[in-house]
Amino acid sequence: MTLRLYNTLTRQKAEFKPIDASNVRMYVCGPTVYDFAHIGNARPVIVFDVLYRLLRHIYGADHVTYVRNITDVDDKINARAAERYPDLAPELAIRKLTEETANQFHADIAALGVLAPNVEPRATEHIVEMVELCDALIANGHAYVAADHVLFDVSSMPDYGRLSNRSLDEMEAGARVEVAPYKKGPMDFVLWKPSKPGEPSWSSPAGIAVAGRPGWHIECSAMAGKHLGNVFDIHGGGIDLAFPHHENEIAQSRCAHGTPVMANVWMHNGFLQVEGEKMSKSLGNFITINELLATTSFGGSQWHGRVVRLAMLGTHYRQPIDWTVDRLVQARATLFDLSFLHDVVPAAEPHPDVIAALADDLNTPSAMSIVHGLAKSAHRNADQAAELKATLQFLGVYDSETQHDLDPGHLARQVDASHVNRLIAARLVARKAKDFVESDRIRDELSAMGVALNDTKNKGTGEIETTWEVRR
Ligand code: AMP
Ligand code: ZN
Repeated sequence: MTLRLYNTLTRQKAEFKPIDASNVRMYVCGPTVYDFAHIGNARPVIVFDVLYRLLRHIYGADHVTYVRNITDVDDKINARAAERYPDLAPELAIRKLTEETANQFHADIAALGVLAPNVEPRATEHIVEMVELCDALIANGHAYVAADHVLFDVSSMPDYGRLSNRSLDEMEAGARVEVAPYKKGPMDFVLWKPSKPGEPSWSSPAGIAVAGRPGWHIECSAMAGKHLGNVFDIHGGGIDLAFPHHENEIAQSRCAHGTPVMANVWMHNGFLQVEGEKMSKSLGNFITINELLATTSFGGSQWHGRVVRLAMLGTHYRQPIDWTVDRLVQARATLFDLSFLHDVVPAAEPHPDVIAALADDLNTPSAMSIVHGLAKSAHRNADQAAELKATLQFLGVYDSETQHDLDPGHLARQVDASHVNRLIAARLVARKAKDFVESDRIRDELSAMGVALNDTKNKGTGEIETTWEVRR
């Protein structure tokens, strides 16, 4: 089995060769825990879960170490904790916020069929390692102290910018933000900074007298180094993290340890947008995982976690993905059509063609089209049905609870009936006014929610009456 992965560092797809096949090591940047995770955050979680499952399949379940951190020190956390729990001491408020948010994150992603990573380190539990990294970088001339900060001196690293393919000159020319006066070079970045009163603080490296806290990038360098070693196999995250976060992780780790790379393969998932637009609070299209699972706010329907996962796998991880109601409706219909597998005993192994598709840089769209092909013949063939079920379980899109939930009666309960009735009433008004563009638009909107309409003429009154049902 040859696994080929696209590497952002080399901009090529190449055969993956682990450093140690008895312990394949992967680090993925996890959430900053101050708010509900949104559906864009779900993408790296699902993508790297598929890779984790594939690595376990190839190298053995006990021969893969997957580390996904929790960032629980961050300025956004401090601000939100003060806002939400103004009556608590800052330290308690922060702890309460980060605990609650991390628990919510775990509950949300468990519904998406995501396996737990082997290690889930928290930044606050690795401050000692961060201080050590700062001291090592100062000692070997890659970092300096200024105004109670520790800063990384990017001019000390000739190939800074290799991952994101930018030269230092270009970056400096483009540095528009006001540069802090204590920085030697405009691209130098913070490893450690002093804390203001009320902010979390620890005793600082390099004999700095005031207590301080780490910068974001050093957190991941410390946690990855501690749990995976100075050089490991795969580092992942969303494409927005390539610069500056991953570039700076690389600079810190390589310069502290004197290694030619931090991780051999760097993988980045593409961005998710919603109904053709960048997701943002101001556009009103911002959607959290929890809203999708627990409310009817996206497309008037609640969406099961496995449906969300299947919808995500329909696009290759490096491509941008457009998150639409229609995509979810289709994924739900696909899972519904697989209900016939309910009593089938799964085979021991997933289908080799699906593994081969995933081994080609996680080609999930191709894996899904193989699944569709299998589903056609599995109706009549018990062996194929068993293999199909094993394959779906391997992909994390099938569990019996979901299939039970997808029966039409249950689906009907997931659709917000009063919302549907309001839309139907608006459609009748439009029809009476002969505004067929609007009435068709409403029919399409309902259709996207999985709601089918049936118009009949009342024989007595001659009025059109509309009934509805949830399509399977
Ligand atoms: P954050 O909490 O913002 O650091 O993000 C956690 C993870 O989600 C990172 O790997 C980000 O790259 C990823 N991410 C954030 N927004 C999106 C998005 N709209 N589409 C895909 N990935 C995203
Ligand atoms: Zn990181």
